[in-house]
Amino acid sequence: MTSTAKPKIAIIGYGSQGRAHALNLRDSGFDVTIGLRPGGPTELKAKADGFTVKAPADAARDGDIVAILTPDMVQPQLYGEVIEPNIRQGACLLFAHGFNVHYGQITPRDDLDVVLVAPKGPGALVRREYEIGRGVPSVYAIHQDRSGQAEHLALAYCAGIGGARQNAIRTTFKEETETDLFGEQAVLCGGATRLVQAGWETLVEAGYQPEVAYYECLHELKLIVDLFYEGGITRMHEFISETAQYGALTRGDYIVDANTRAQMKQVLAEIQDGTFARQWIAEYAAGNANYKAMKQADLDHPIEAIGKKLRANMKWLASSQAQPAKPATAEAQPQSEAA
Ligand code: NAD
Ligand code: MG
Repeated sequence: MTSTAKPKIAIIGYGSQGRAHALNLRDSGFDVTIGLRPGGPTELKAKADGFTVKAPADAARDGDIVAILTPDMVQPQLYGEVIEPNIRQGACLLFAHGFNVHYGQITPRDDLDVVLVAPKGPGALVRREYEIGRGVPSVYAIHQDRSGQAEHLALAYCAGIGGARQNAIRTTFKEETETDLFGEQAVLCGGATRLVQAGWETLVEAGYQPEVAYYECLHELKLIVDLFYEGGITRMHEFISETAQYGALTRGDYIVDANTRAQMKQVLAEIQDGTFARQWIAEYAAGNANYKAMKQADLDHPIEAIGKKLRANMKWLASSQAQPAKPATAEAQPQSEAA
């Protein structure tokens, strides 16, 4: 392949990221083939979207770029058994998260270019932003550059999914992996979930109506985050009342205190020294019993039933609720999801 021809792209996995990347790349003029296990849960969806679907081995053989967009935990076996024996000499192996390469679960073949293109957002948003002519900010990194073309290929892919339109930042596999895990654990998913649940429980235990507590602790969070997104904390301060500002400035530190900061450092230390990765890999290998039980507890939390009832009257949510952001069948299913 010359640097002027568009690389042929094989996308292995058609879940949250896979579907969004595939649709965006096709709309950007790339030749895209999808690699999926025959009869797997997302095969019909890929076909309905008009893609050629092949077995992962066949798709991998065809690609100038082979993007591995299956769940992280199935990637090592998939790579070893299906990708490495079939991907052609000198092709480019692409990941959307650095986990397996960074933690040594995948050691890519020496002749391959190995790159990372990670959109900083869920797949549904990667697609929606592309469709309205914007993009989700993305980071990219180069692990191996055997062809001298690795950065060119990563940026071509990044532009194809709409990510380079906005602030594509070069990073490393180490930085992407560690910051991504920290963000989702401490702030975005773990931190935000527990903050919302604990705030709601505090109000309900004190005798306030669960519905009112839901609006205060969960629903309104979006309105604040939208202000952060548009104009940072400065914009929030422009929009909230003086009373809210004074309360935030004096009481925020009760919540994120020295102990919370020490716990954040602990979360980061366990990411950096591999403790988290080893724990998650062992959990997955043992069949995910703890993961499933903890997730079920989140799904069974009483705030979920209250929210479901209230959201039924939020007519503007109807269209987004009809289409789940992530196919339910693509959730971690250790043995059946393995190649
Ligand atoms: P997902 O769970 O949504 O999708 C998985 C897809 O892989 C499904 O199509 C499934 O059928 C398929 N699959 C599973 N096992 C397979 C196998 N053995 N062979 C072939 N196909 C198989 O996954 P996702 O959340 O899109 O994650 C994909 C990658 O993107 C991961 O590396 C993840 O860290 C990264 N990422 C995800 C997000 C996100 O918001 N979900 C954001 C940035 C990066
Ligand atoms: Mg992540």
